[in-house]
Amino acid sequence: MGIKDRLFGRKDDAAEVVSREAEAPGCLHADLAERWDDAADMGKMDRISGYECRGCHQHFSPEEGQRLQAENEARLKETMAGS
Ligand SMILES: [Zn+2]
Repeated sequence: MGIKDRLFGRKDDAAEVVSREAEAPGCLHADLAERWDDAADMGKMDRISGYECRGCHQHFSPEEGQRLQAENEARLKETMAGS
């Protein structure tokens, strides 16, 4: 009984740590830099290998980076509309 409870507790703790790391609290990833693995592809927007946040230096896949950029734009528009 006691062991089962402890296992449960540990599992919850681990999940909490993972989600906290993934969200990188305090950084909105609003300043993303494009990254290219192959120098020959640099500057080609359709050959982007990923994005790096200039704030927290976290790396993102092209899909994630584009989603974050879209979210940032939406947030900007919301901020401007609200003022
Ligand atoms: Zn960031």
